[in-house]
Amino acid sequence: MKLAKRVSTLTPSSTFAITAKAKELREQGHDVIGLGAGEPDFNTPAYIIQAAIRSMEEGHTKYTPSGGLPKLKEAIIGKFQRDQQLSYSAAEIIVGSGAKHILYTLFQAILDEGDEVIIPSPYWVSYPEQVKLANGTPLFIEGKEENGFKVTTDQLEKAITPQTKAFILNSPSNPTGAMYAEEELRQLGDVCLKHDVLIISDEIYEKLVYDGATHTSVAQLSPELKEQTIVVNGVSKSHSMTGWRIGYAAGNATIIKAMTNLASHSTSNPTTNAQYGTIAAYTEDDGSVETMRQAFEQRLNGIYERLITIPGITCVKPQGAFYLFPNVREAAELNGFADVDSWVEALLEEEKVALVPGSGFGAPNNVRLSYATSFEALEEALTRIERFVKAKA
Ligand code: PLP
Repeated sequence: MKLAKRVSTLTPSSTFAITAKAKELREQGHDVIGLGAGEPDFNTPAYIIQAAIRSMEEGHTKYTPSGGLPKLKEAIIGKFQRDQQLSYSAAEIIVGSGAKHILYTLFQAILDEGDEVIIPSPYWVSYPEQVKLANGTPLFIEGKEENGFKVTTDQLEKAITPQTKAFILNSPSNPTGAMYAEEELRQLGDVCLKHDVLIISDEIYEKLVYDGATHTSVAQLSPELKEQTIVVNGVSKSHSMTGWRIGYAAGNATIIKAMTNLASHSTSNPTTNAQYGTIAAYTEDDGSVETMRQAFEQRLNGIYERLITIPGITCVKPQGAFYLFPNVREAAELNGFADVDSWVEALLEEEKVALVPGSGFGAPNNVRLSYATSFEALEEALTRIERFVKAKA
């Protein structure tokens, strides 16, 4: 069977690949510390689970409208108003099966053959693949490490062509944890307004920000920027609900309507009980979102200083999300490896620590280390990494 061209160039998600390898070693009886996870290690707060159970007991087990339950849209509208002082109508909201599928649907809705999407690197692995699946062309601009992994207006201006359809902002970022300041967002936003480039603002890590920083959405900065932006968000990271698969987008009603039509032929609707759980997530609050955020911050502060004392490893301190993205090029060279990918592989084989190589994120000198795991596991992982680097130096 000859497969379609669109899947022949598709690369499997590197984050999933390392997690699978770590699982395999664990099943063979090895004591593996997996720092590849892209999901919080906490359980979903109980009040959300209860709301989903209740919905099923009450008989809410059927299809819902494709773009989500009206009550859930209302709850999301309330969230935008409360957290970001953004006013949306129900026609400007779509709920889907996770932010990942929302983004997939968005690219399908806006891209034609040859349309370009500007993606800052390091990037979340699915952006370029999803753009290609929609026949679009990903175009990368490098968020330089010395600039805190952030791109500049100059880089954006230079990358825009008549084919540019959209620009992706992911703040805080997966994999770097970098967060754009209000002024930086305003300047990047103004460039997009000037060239009529749609801004796709992936704000999935909005709630996970540290050191007193506050998250700003580019859509908050002016009515024009709000109209120019599709905000993408979800409950996976904020409420530890990765398996529930609920994400959403807010923005221009024409785009949202097209996405909803597409969803009606692909998913039909996001899972009904998960939608009810999400209504609770956004209309009640037992403090657990903040408790989880504090736990992540404590872990970050606990391991960051130690990580950067390891020879050959440098790291820009992240401001958000739950990843560290150290540059380990020198350590890999010190240890006699030709590239960081093989260093990561050897670390897993020999010390049973699973990191994700940065090559999949467009940053071949770096690795992604997720601190969505216990502090004890993180400390032990650092001990092993340090031992590995020093033994081979
Ligand atoms: N966007 C970014 C930057 C992510 O890291 C992820 C998850 O890893 C997603 C979107 C998708 O989240 P979900 O599909 O679980 O809502």
